[in-house]
Amino acid sequence: MTRGNPCQLPGMLPNYDPNDSEAGMKILEDLTENVEQIQQRVLEEIITRNARTDYLKGFLDGQFDKQVFKKTVPVVNYEDIKPYIERIANGDSSNIISAEPIIELLTSSGTSGGQPKMMPSTAEDLHRKTFFYNLLVPVMTKYVDGLDEGKAMYLLFVKPETKTPSGLMARPVLTSYYKSNNFKNRPFNRFNVYTSPDETILCSDSKQSMYCQLLCGLVQRQEVLRVGAVFASAFLRAIKFLEHNWKELCSNTRTGHVSDWITDPGCRKVVSLVLNKPKPELADLIEHECNSNSWEGIIKKLWPRTKYIEVIVTGSMAQYVSTLEYYSGGIPLVSTMYASSECYFGINFKPLSKPWDVSYTLIPNMAYFEFLPVKKKNEDGAQYVQCNGVCKENCMEKETEKEDVETVELVDVKLGQYYELVVTTFTGLYRYRVGDILMVTGFHNKAPQFRFVHRRNVVLSIDTDKTSEEDLLKAVTKAKVIVESLGILLIEYTSYADASSIPGHYVLFWELTSKGNNHLPVLDPKIMEQCCSTVEESLDSVYRRCRRKDNSIGPLEIRVVQHGTFDALMDFCVSQGSSVNQYKTPRCIKSGEAINILDSRVVARFFSQKAPFWEPV
Ligand code: AMP
Repeated sequence: MTRGNPCQLPGMLPNYDPNDSEAGMKILEDLTENVEQIQQRVLEEIITRNARTDYLKGFLDGQFDKQVFKKTVPVVNYEDIKPYIERIANGDSSNIISAEPIIELLTSSGTSGGQPKMMPSTAEDLHRKTFFYNLLVPVMTKYVDGLDEGKAMYLLFVKPETKTPSGLMARPVLTSYYKSNNFKNRPFNRFNVYTSPDETILCSDSKQSMYCQLLCGLVQRQEVLRVGAVFASAFLRAIKFLEHNWKELCSNTRTGHVSDWITDPGCRKVVSLVLNKPKPELADLIEHECNSNSWEGIIKKLWPRTKYIEVIVTGSMAQYVSTLEYYSGGIPLVSTMYASSECYFGINFKPLSKPWDVSYTLIPNMAYFEFLPVKKKNEDGAQYVQCNGVCKENCMEKETEKEDVETVELVDVKLGQYYELVVTTFTGLYRYRVGDILMVTGFHNKAPQFRFVHRRNVVLSIDTDKTSEEDLLKAVTKAKVIVESLGILLIEYTSYADASSIPGHYVLFWELTSKGNNHLPVLDPKIMEQCCSTVEESLDSVYRRCRRKDNSIGPLEIRVVQHGTFDALMDFCVSQGSSVNQYKTPRCIKSGEAINILDSRVVARFFSQKAPFWEPV
């Protein structure tokens, strides 16, 4: 690759050997040095290709100019483009939005009218994703030696797919990728050798898939150099599964025979090959570790050569950090990338940084990026911009409030500023609001780096208060320190704004467990009331004013729920269309059915006993 001409393949994708980490690094340097030119070319290419689509034609009227594009093409939400997506799903030609044929629709974890949003995808887009995944390797190898001397135990899963009336596949982005030839026929790359045979990843029965992947991971434990899953929650689910199934896994290892309930023929065949023969010594060893009273550091014990755990622990996943640290035995947690069904966005260039310090550098040839400036909440709670009515309840901002807000380009974002990400993709999304709020933390060469702040619309509100996901996480993090000091772990939480009484109040649902023995702990009411107060003290000034001065918010409540409640919540969300792979516990619940699921499992309720401190600023 030559400087100044970083993108040779169609769709602005450079061509190089992914086994060559040095070449990969050089590409990243070029991409991050030439941000402005690349973004300009990406936009030109997207407009030139798609100017004749019904969608763009209506705005551009044959003009290919960036200024015209930005002046005439509106910044949109999913609801604005939904009619086009639905037409394609129902059999209209995909060239109403994309010159490149749309080969499938990717079901996002965001929903619209109770259904998953669907994002267009093209054949070329799979190559873009492959290119992106390949770039993660040189970044990791820069910080961690010897990754080509062993294997990765990545627990990856597919989800059942559906077809639209027109016969297009509709499935989550990861299922689409794992089932693609780009993944299945990937060329050998010594930095990316997995313990899970593809058959176990592609098995549609998630229990068999999980069992087989863990069995293969355990059998090859001495070769494992890194472990992980896409999101922290999925990795923790795997640890839970292991807790429930280690005896059987050991027995299979001991006898060299895979359990009879593994009926998927592909899985049986490959796992038998990996298992190969009876391994009684290995079984004894695993049994010894799993039989221990405490599972603290279990990852390090079972996979002793592990150099890091690759799981996303930013955004709403940040609440899993302490639980992961408990199980990991001090192994670094690495969030490598920031991506979505719409587009793959950014890479963490400092993968060993602490979860709280993680930033992602947006890769400028992935899409054309724009940014809507977001103001931080004021003391009077007047502006937190951009919650524009997509969320139907408790949402303060109005659609009209942001109409005049101009977007900023990738090279023009300012350090320390908050923005909402807007993308124009190669796949038929134009000036589309992703819904993520990001903050600029620095630059890699000329490419800005962003901390993921939160997803728009995940807020609690009773009066004029507006609590973001980030605010809630901070407050819960402070409160959970109190129980942690008593040997109790907060393993999951969510919340809702209970407006059924006047004044309404915030309700937090907490699932707690005793460190070590995994039982529901005995709870001291005074301690739990202190947790309620600490959450309130940690919430923002507007909340505290409403609660203390205006009395427009009642005392905050914590409802402790039985073990397994959040699994039931996940099952419910999955039954409503969420993907198992991409599932993230909603931090704020609005559906009555979901609240009933939680409420029916409440074992204890505690209320804040004192109003939080507040004084006018
Ligand atoms: P989906 O459309 O279901 O693939 O979900 C994509 C969304 O997941 C993004 O828009 C983000 O809100 C969230 N997400 C993805 N990657 C990360 C990350 N590294 N850190 C925090 N949130 C993320």
